Amino acid sequence: MTPNEVIEYAKQQGARQIDLRFTDLPGLAQHISYPIGQLTEDSFEEGFGIDGSSIRGWAAINESDMLLIPDPNTAYMDPFFETPTLCMIGDIQDPITRQKYDRDPRWIAKKAEMYLKNSGVADTIYFGAEAEFFIFDNIRFDQNPHSGYYFIDAEEGRWNSGREANNLGYRPRYKEGYFPLPPTDHYQNLRAEMVETMLKVGLDIECHHHEVATAGQCEIDQRFDTMVKSADNMMLYKYCIRNVAYRHGKTVTFMPKPLFGDNGSGMHCHQSLWKGGQPLFAGDGYAGLSQMALWYIGGLLKHARALSAIIAPTTNSYKRLVPGYEAPVNLAYSRRNRSAAVRIPMYSSSPKAKRVEFRPPDPSANPYLAFAAMLMAGLDGIVNKIDPGESLDKDIYDLSPEELKAVPSMPASLDEALQCLEEDHNFLLKDDVFTEELLETWITYKQKNEADAVRLRPHPYEFALYYDI
Ligand code: GLN
Ligand code: MG
Ligand code: MG
Ligand code: MG
Repeated sequence: MTPNEVIEYAKQQGARQIDLRFTDLPGLAQHISYPIGQLTEDSFEEGFGIDGSSIRGWAAINESDMLLIPDPNTAYMDPFFETPTLCMIGDIQDPITRQKYDRDPRWIAKKAEMYLKNSGVADTIYFGAEAEFFIFDNIRFDQNPHSGYYFIDAEEGRWNSGREANNLGYRPRYKEGYFPLPPTDHYQNLRAEMVETMLKVGLDIECHHHEVATAGQCEIDQRFDTMVKSADNMMLYKYCIRNVAYRHGKTVTFMPKPLFGDNGSGMHCHQSLWKGGQPLFAGDGYAGLSQMALWYIGGLLKHARALSAIIAPTTNSYKRLVPGYEAPVNLAYSRRNRSAAVRIPMYSSSPKAKRVEFRPPDPSANPYLAFAAMLMAGLDGIVNKIDPGESLDKDIYDLSPEELKAVPSMPASLDEALQCLEEDHNFLLKDDVFTEELLETWITYKQKNEADAVRLRPHPYEFALYYDI
């Protein structure tokens, strides 16, 4: 839409307000609303002033005035607000220099798309991201006064949801949620309403289903799209899911491993490069891949340990990335193997459907940063012709300890991942897609506010282990 068309659309829809959205560095959506009269054609040039000083990971207080420039291509009517409201994504600009802001995640993703075009390798990357999530009953969390933790069952390390406590039956057993009919699947109606809401705001949905874990783990799959659009869609997807659940007295979490002993939530990312409308990943190599696709895999695998700090960027991510739960641990690729970090889906023989699925990412990642970082790693693979090595077609979980040792693995903790990013990030700096300054901010933020913060707190399970020692 053009600015004028947006204004026309707002009128036609009876919008009384506009709401501008953007994403902070860790990946949480932020917003600010204005009466509709504030929106004119000029707004799309002049923007709206905001104070960026309280946004996590952004500017210091002395340089915090920023502009939000609405992107007319992102307009939709909010499906939840009682006052009819037109939403748009805002891009961040410095009001003095009128430069785009290097810590705006969406700008980083746009720069990565530009870098791809300039490289001449391809003009388009498509992303299809499958973010899994848990729906929980909206029970009150109790704070454990001894640990300063929100209390979870210390014996089991499991979060005791209301439904389990009441023993209502018809519930999926651990690791058996995939995918029995209702009434065992409690969430058909809720997911269907989520999907209907998503369709209304313009998301393209392919399917929805219960996932493997017991207590309401679900997945809704969006159709692939270009990279920045896919990240925009991911933010909107989470917003719809959370708010439909909230209307029904439920909560949703995208944290990667809420339950001990059951599957966690991944955000597998399907990726393919295209040029002039032609797919570049289909060929006559392994699993029907082109040489370019194999190099792309080579780049993903080579940089996977550093990428982890961006695609699996929370302390909780590393509780998911352990053997036995369909989450990848080992850095290998395979056509069939869901225990490998890279899987080549074989559902279709069409060259257009040829893609690589990278499985380590989880939905606690900021999609703009995560998608951009994966693209940069894959491109580094192509530019430097990085050979991904032999494919691994056995079940990695069944390998002998000696065989396993030969396969590199994901970092075991956020600390280790941050260390890896510190040591390996030149591939992200090309054309200033990620800047040194941004990466330093990221590493310090994650180390101090998350890795150290968790390490310093007594863990609930330590009470089970040590209380009466
Ligand atoms: N939940 C698994 C993960 O953590 C994936 C399960 C699946 O989609 N097959 O990645
Ligand atoms: Mg899936
Ligand atoms: Mg899944
Ligand atoms: Mg998948």
